[in-house]
Amino acid sequence: MNMEKKKVDVLEQMQNMTIDLNSKALIEKAEKDGVETMYKRKLGYKVQCGFGLQGVCCRNCGMGPCRISPKTPRGLCGADEHTIVGRNYARMCAGGTAAHSDHARDITHTLGLTTPGGAYQVTEPEKLKEFAQFMGVDPEGKDIYELAHEVSEVCLMEFGKPHGVSKLLARAPKVRQDVWKEYGIEPRAIDREIATVMHSTHIGCCADIDALVHMAFRCSMADGWAGSMIGTMLSDILFGTPKPVHTEANLNVLDGNNVNIILHGHEPTLSEMIVLASELPEMQDLAKEVGADGITLSGICCTGNELTMRHGIKIAGDFHQQELAIITGAVEAMIVDVQCIFPALAEVATHYHTKFITTSPKAQITGSTYMEFHEETALEDAKTIVREAILNFKNRDASKVMVPELKSEAMVGYAEEAIVGQLNNVVNTQIDDMNTLKPLIDVLASGVIRGVVGVVGCNNARTPSNYNHLTIMKELIKNDYLVVTTGCGASAAAKNGLMLKENAAKYAGKGLATVCQLVDIPPVIHLGSCVDNSRILNICSLVANALDMDIADLPVAGCAPEWMSEKAIAIGTYVVGSGIETFLGVMPPVTGSSRAVEILCGSIKDKVGACFHVNEDAEALAQDIMACIEAKRPHFEELYQEKVLNKRVSGELACLY
Ligand code: SF4
Ligand code: SF4
Repeated sequence: MNMEKKKVDVLEQMQNMTIDLNSKALIEKAEKDGVETMYKRKLGYKVQCGFGLQGVCCRNCGMGPCRISPKTPRGLCGADEHTIVGRNYARMCAGGTAAHSDHARDITHTLGLTTPGGAYQVTEPEKLKEFAQFMGVDPEGKDIYELAHEVSEVCLMEFGKPHGVSKLLARAPKVRQDVWKEYGIEPRAIDREIATVMHSTHIGCCADIDALVHMAFRCSMADGWAGSMIGTMLSDILFGTPKPVHTEANLNVLDGNNVNIILHGHEPTLSEMIVLASELPEMQDLAKEVGADGITLSGICCTGNELTMRHGIKIAGDFHQQELAIITGAVEAMIVDVQCIFPALAEVATHYHTKFITTSPKAQITGSTYMEFHEETALEDAKTIVREAILNFKNRDASKVMVPELKSEAMVGYAEEAIVGQLNNVVNTQIDDMNTLKPLIDVLASGVIRGVVGVVGCNNARTPSNYNHLTIMKELIKNDYLVVTTGCGASAAAKNGLMLKENAAKYAGKGLATVCQLVDIPPVIHLGSCVDNSRILNICSLVANALDMDIADLPVAGCAPEWMSEKAIAIGTYVVGSGIETFLGVMPPVTGSSRAVEILCGSIKDKVGACFHVNEDAEALAQDIMACIEAKRPHFEELYQEKVLNKRVSGELACLY
């Protein structure tokens, strides 16, 4: 094979790893510019290690590493495949829980720093008062900032309190709380659950697969029903509850004549300040001074989701597009904080003028420009960083710029309150109250909408970027299942027109399309970032409480078609723990233990009412999800008849819910 043909083959193979046309164009540019991307590295990993894929390698002590095979069925300490897989799985859950919860801890500290007129303020005083009451803090007679500081202290205790379980569990239906009590997975303090997993998975500690799975569940519950829930709630209180807002998505949102600043990572404490700083007249003037028309902010990963939900800031791309964004040659600064940031960005940035700016002591990256961000001096720090980005505009090399052509419009910003607000569009005020979830419950019960599926999570180099997300979302909405989404799943939907109201008729089945038209929503609903998966738990709880049912009774499911991170594993685990059947498009590293697979994809259902389902064929996975929900519907409809309709007929339930 000649060299030229070989090059074309390599390019084609890399381009086949994504279905995004902008990404394909930029992979080609990366090749021309001599820049290595994840796609190239993936090709280098011809065969990934089978021991790792099955979860049967252990390096938890210095006697190892050990790996299980027919010839070596036990590690040096005697741990078998079930113990090793169970420990690895539990540690993944602990890693994910730690990431979400440390994020939440920062937000909680930030609430404690709020001052009237300060960089951080209480934007939602009513929500704060309501939440304070829920957390056992009496708001009566207190100044809103005094209350904020008290709530911050109370929430900080959730991370390390010596006694009791997460206060947030009380949001769930009583029957669900009883399930958790019985299985013993009510999470205690968040940090304690993480520490317990790390302790128990140390050499010579827990060596029982049932016990390891049990603690993995309890730890993950501390993520969904404590850390993430606190993170979402306090972010709303600080920065505003998202409301429906228009945005645009994909790399064409980069503006050729503007200073392009991309925010990547997770925590809104940084990104909100960058937004404030970049809107200041002095920054706008500086941008003009250096020859730009203005400043364009856009986001990648969950920081992008937080910003688009609250401000309509454009979504530059998802996890797999972070290197490609720099390869456009049009980015003055990629500003990051924590989580999901490729260390490779440092090397990619050396090929262009882009400043790769790290800001968090928790995520310093060799080769980056480190500009530490402190909440105490937030706006000043943000101004310094934005100034650095603007001044870099003059270093842009026009010959290296190629902003690809595609972007899509999208409607985003559907927090719980926004969904209820949209549902008011179809309330008959002669009969029913406003501001309830009744219209959603009615269409679910009647079967006009067959079910609701949360399609969430990352991109994974083991599947073509965005293919699984889009295949599954399209199949679901075509068959009248409403899709809600967060994280990089949300970016995939936004980039491909699934978050446009006017596309409901094009992509959705008749039932769902009619509902979308009447309620005025798109067929795929953007619920936010990965911590905002707690919004899904909240909505499920509200619906189940209204119907006097368990979450496990509802025709709902969770799906992570392209998951990759430990956070995604923790999310999947707490979603299952919440009684929601969870479908994965990539096999987790547990297949080395038949017992682990049997528990996670089977018998855990006896404990929590749901389990994992894995299918690496996206079309088949979509069918599995629908079959699962259809199998749940008769029971749900029967319960609905018994708990709602009969009571209404007998007059016991005058006004539904
Ligand atoms: S904990 Fe056991 S299985 Fe793991 S590395 Fe040490 S000896 Fe090997
Ligand atoms: S969805 Fe996955 S890849 Fe995307 S930001 Fe969240 S954890 Fe990272």
